[in-house]
Amino acid sequence: MSKDIATPNRTKEILKKYGFSFKKSLGQNFLIDTNVLNNIVDCAELLPNSGAIEIGPGIGALTEQLAKRCERVVAFEIDQRLLPILNETLAPYPHATVIHSDVLEADINSVISEKFKEGQDVMVVANLPYYVTTPILMKLLEEKLPIRGIVVMIQKEVADRISAKPGTKEYGSLSIAAQYYAQATTELIVPKTVFVPQPNVDSAVLKLTIRKEPAVKVNDEQFFFRLIRASFGQRRKTIMNNLTHNLFTKADKEKVEAALLSCNIEPTRRGETLSIEEYAVLSNALS
Ligand code: SAM
Repeated sequence: MSKDIATPNRTKEILKKYGFSFKKSLGQNFLIDTNVLNNIVDCAELLPNSGAIEIGPGIGALTEQLAKRCERVVAFEIDQRLLPILNETLAPYPHATVIHSDVLEADINSVISEKFKEGQDVMVVANLPYYVTTPILMKLLEEKLPIRGIVVMIQKEVADRISAKPGTKEYGSLSIAAQYYAQATTELIVPKTVFVPQPNVDSAVLKLTIRKEPAVKVNDEQFFFRLIRASFGQRRKTIMNNLTHNLFTKADKEKVEAALLSCNIEPTRRGETLSIEEYAVLSNALS
C-alpha cells in the first residue's frame, strides 16, 4: 500500500512530479494532515454502504479517506490540470470517480441518480474553495438534493454566521437561509498549519444535517427569502425602516406596521432580533 496522499512529503512529491502550481483564484489550499481528514470524515458518520460527493478533490487527499470508508465517491473538480494527478493518486480506489466540472454549473441531482443507488445514504463532504463557499452551500441546499447532510471545511467566519442564533452579531440572512433547510453545527476549528499553502483566514468544519421538512412553514418561499434579505438590508435600521425602504415603499408604511403588530413584532425591533419562526409568520402575513 502506498503512503496516504495527505502527508507533507507525499503531497510535495506529487506536486513536484507534475510541476503543479497552486491557483489562488481557485481557492487551492490542500490538506496535508491525515488526522484532520479523518476527523472530517468522522463528522459525516458514513456507513460502509454510504455514498459521498466531494467538491474540489485537489490531488485526492480527502477523496482517498472517503474512498476507504464508503462504497462510492463522486468528486467534482474544475481544474483540468488536476485530472492526470487524480488519475494516478486515486488508481487504488476504482469506486471513486472524478467529474471535470464547475460544481456551480453541474446538475447534481442527475449525477446522484446516475452514480448512486436509489435511496442510498449520501453525504457531501468537502474542503471547499473559499472564494465560492456561500454559492456552493446555497446551491446544495436550494436544490433539495436527496442527501443526508453536508460536512465542509470553510472559513470560520462563515461557519459562525451559518450556525448563529438570533440576537448575535453573526446572525443574518445566511444563518436563516441555511437553518431553514438544515440543522447547523460547527464541529471543529482547524489551524492554518494543516494546509499548503496556508490560507489567510481561520477555518472550521461545519455540519449541516438536512431537515425532512423546512424549519418553518411558509406560503411563498421566494417572498420569505426576499423579506429576510430586506430586513437585514441595513443592520442599524429598524425592521420597519428596512422593509419600507428595501421591499415596500413609504406609501406601504401602514400596511407593514399593521402586519408587524398583527404578528406581535414591535416595528422598532431590528431584523437581527427576529427568530426564523417570526420571519415565517411575518412572511405569511405580508405575502
Ligand atoms: N480536497 C482537496 C484537499 O482537501 O486537499 C483540495 C481542496 S481545495 C481547498 C479546493 C478545490 O476545489 C481545488 O482543488 C480547486 O481546484 C477546486 N475548485 C475550485 N472551484 C471549484 C468549482 N467551482 N467547482 C469544482 N471544484 C472547484
